[in-house]
Amino acid sequence: MKNIVVLATGGTIAGVSTSSTDTTGYRSAILTVDDIISQISPLKTIANITSEQFVQLDSADMTHEVWLELARRISSLLEREEVDGVVVTHGTDTLEETAYFLNLVVNSEKPVVLVGAMRPSTSLSCDGPMNLYNAVILASSPQSWGKGVLVTLNDTIHCSREVTKTNTALQDTFKTPDVGNFGYVVDGTPYFYRMPIRKHTYMTSFPIEKIKELPQVDIIYGHVNDRGTLACAAAEAGAKGLVYAGLGNGNMSKHMKDVLGVIQKQGVIVVRSTRVGSGVVTRNGAVDDDQYRFIAADNLNPQKARILLMLALTQTASLEEIQAIFWEY
Ligand code: GLU
Repeated sequence: MKNIVVLATGGTIAGVSTSSTDTTGYRSAILTVDDIISQISPLKTIANITSEQFVQLDSADMTHEVWLELARRISSLLEREEVDGVVVTHGTDTLEETAYFLNLVVNSEKPVVLVGAMRPSTSLSCDGPMNLYNAVILASSPQSWGKGVLVTLNDTIHCSREVTKTNTALQDTFKTPDVGNFGYVVDGTPYFYRMPIRKHTYMTSFPIEKIKELPQVDIIYGHVNDRGTLACAAAEAGAKGLVYAGLGNGNMSKHMKDVLGVIQKQGVIVVRSTRVGSGVVTRNGAVDDDQYRFIAADNLNPQKARILLMLALTQTASLEEIQAIFWEY
């Protein structure tokens, strides 16, 4: 059997409620990792599991500091010959962000799998045990090697670059818009149907050993009659980069082009993403990026574009290089 380390960070998978019919009114991040694992007896038959209670958080309270420590811990575990894979339990609210961050900084081909649950452990239909079982299956599988950080919930396998939470409460919430999930885990067997194309994990130029801290990058949500006050406030508060969750193909009003153009001239990198939820933001498509010196986010959603921009800024301030990074990762 493979040796798998489970790092627990909290979330609903560690949640409890006084009522078995509560699906949203419960306390997250209560059960310890040992409590969770001891409730899933089949785990013993599929891997040798060791566990660490890394933090105990509602994932809304995830921070860059925890990310950096988590990535360092995962990297050092995976360097050990006897460790075959790592599973991270996580609240679903920011799971996609932690997964993509780790996908960009953990330099290893070994499997890293993020998993959560939408129902607390006390629920009539709690999904945590099966999700965690599937995550350990994936972390133990040779098929998971070299595919970057994976996400699994609800029997599906997703690429951390594209997966996103799409429903506030349903179990079928993690989706990979347009390009589709990697595959499924059914009856303890992973079924993969595609490979990631973009650079990740063992191909990274941002290995965690090189990252000391992450620069401030904020997201500004586009809407009708945007006055630009929040973008200006973010720049004044020291943002090194801004991601604009633009309209359609990263579009914005004439007024916002002028506001963000001025902010760009002050040295803040401006990335155009979209609030639409899927699709490519094309360079010089809805906005003349060459004229305004903006970056197009490709198909990264705003929260993932923020992570890539932070990591890019640890290495370069060149617009050409940052745009190239957005086409590569
Ligand atoms: N809001 C909690 C969190 O993100 C629970 C969400 C979940 O795990 O489904 O940790």
